[in-house]
Amino acid sequence: MGSLADLHSHSTFSDGRLTPAQLVDLAYRNGVRVFALTDHDIVDGLPAAFHAAGRYTDFTLIPGIEMSTDVPGNEVHILGHFIDWHDQTFLRRLKQLQESRLGRARQMVEKLTELGKPITWERVQTFAGEGVVGRPHIALALVEAGHVSSVNEAFDRYLSRNGPAYVERDRLGPEEVVRLLLDVGGMATLAHPRELLESGSLEVLLSNLKGAGLTGMEVYYQDYLPEEIETLRNLASKFALIPLGGSDYHGLGGPQQREPGDIPLPMEPVEALLSLARARGALERARIAHTR
Ligand code: AMP
Ligand code: ZN
Ligand code: FE
Ligand code: FE
Repeated sequence: MGSLADLHSHSTFSDGRLTPAQLVDLAYRNGVRVFALTDHDIVDGLPAAFHAAGRYTDFTLIPGIEMSTDVPGNEVHILGHFIDWHDQTFLRRLKQLQESRLGRARQMVEKLTELGKPITWERVQTFAGEGVVGRPHIALALVEAGHVSSVNEAFDRYLSRNGPAYVERDRLGPEEVVRLLLDVGGMATLAHPRELLESGSLEVLLSNLKGAGLTGMEVYYQDYLPEEIETLRNLASKFALIPLGGSDYHGLGGPQQREPGDIPLPMEPVEALLSLARARGALERARIAHTR
């Protein structure tokens, strides 16, 4: 089916449908041997993921995270791989981001009520489960209440950045996030850059982020077409970034959804990332992480 590696995925600790253990098992069954769990603004799913990964001897789990940031007019997501997820300062910062997500989600629920599309906060919380709350959980509550027929429609009509129920939240700038990730021994990769490419803002951003220490850019992603991959690969090369990628698997369905590993990510750039991690001691740190 796909690649031996998948560097971008979400579990129940953010807005994915599968638990970390289920996700690791599914990735393994799909033939993935280098896998990253990258929940939104949270690392709390990593212990369970490492526990599950520990049952496979030929499987490398990368401790990861996806952090939301902002540039004017656009959302920018940055992946962190091989982060030291026990760092107390980092964990405190994440707590703040998670609390800000809560406040913002409550405001979105209020806005939906004002718009005549009421959902209860309890249902949103139930969909969010043990992890951070995100717009997909609000979308699921909207579907359940019969206000829309799909998660995609919920985003299109209410929850997208320009939608009537959208509320901003506390965000860091992308350079700040790259530095934050480097500070905890991680490597930073710009996620799903196609929209930035289309809006013409990608090159300036890459040049700024490269200066801040960016390591990679997602090039192989979901439904990216061969010609888009080619364009992005050339840009990665221009800025000396490793061309990485992932399925961004959430398990929620939808037209762009790909299964773990179902992306044309070659192993050569993945090996380059692993070599960097090895050189910095991050691979070893990740191996012993779950025994701490
Ligand atoms: P949040 O982190 O709460 O701002 O929500 C952002 C998340 O919502 C993204 O990471 C995606 O998982 C999901 N998302 C964004 N746009 C859409 C869409 N049009 N359809 C379905 N899910 C989306
Ligand atoms: Zn998500
Ligand atoms: Fe993202
Ligand atoms: Fe993602």
